[in-house]
Amino acid sequence: MRIFCYPIIVMPTDEKIIALTFDDGPTDTPEILKFLRIYEAKATFFVIGKRVEEYPDLIKREIIEGHEIANHTYSHRYFNKKMPVDRIEDEILKAEQMILNVTGEKPNLFRPPGGYYGENLVDATKKSRYQVVMWSWHQDTENWDTPD
Ligand SMILES: [Zn+2]
Repeated sequence: MRIFCYPIIVMPTDEKIIALTFDDGPTDTPEILKFLRIYEAKATFFVIGKRVEEYPDLIKREIIEGHEIANHTYSHRYFNKKMPVDRIEDEILKAEQMILNVTGEKPNLFRPPGGYYGENLVDATKKSRYQVVMWSWHQDTENWDTPD
């Protein structure tokens, strides 16, 4: 996979397509999977490492149903510009290990909690070979405001 040194926010295309992504799981995943199945849609799940440990069966189900698993840190720690690269990398690699334990594959995509992006994050994701993927801020569903 080609890794860009900038985060992917949108990909220019003439096709009428969207990329569905779900963060912070696995928790309410069964409900989401149900709707994805109904609409024959595939999604990328940016999962939190410590939740992967708690719900390995949900991760396995996402894989079996054809979805992609991506890295969203081990503990959903918010990064900032003062955080050392190795601490950011530690969060990424710890989550990676949890995902690897369950899926047998290293994820390629990473999304930082809260959308933090700085030089230290670029260094950490480059070292651990991740493509950073954000979301379309300009089309915020604001569903984070009412998580249920
Ligand atoms: Zn998150």
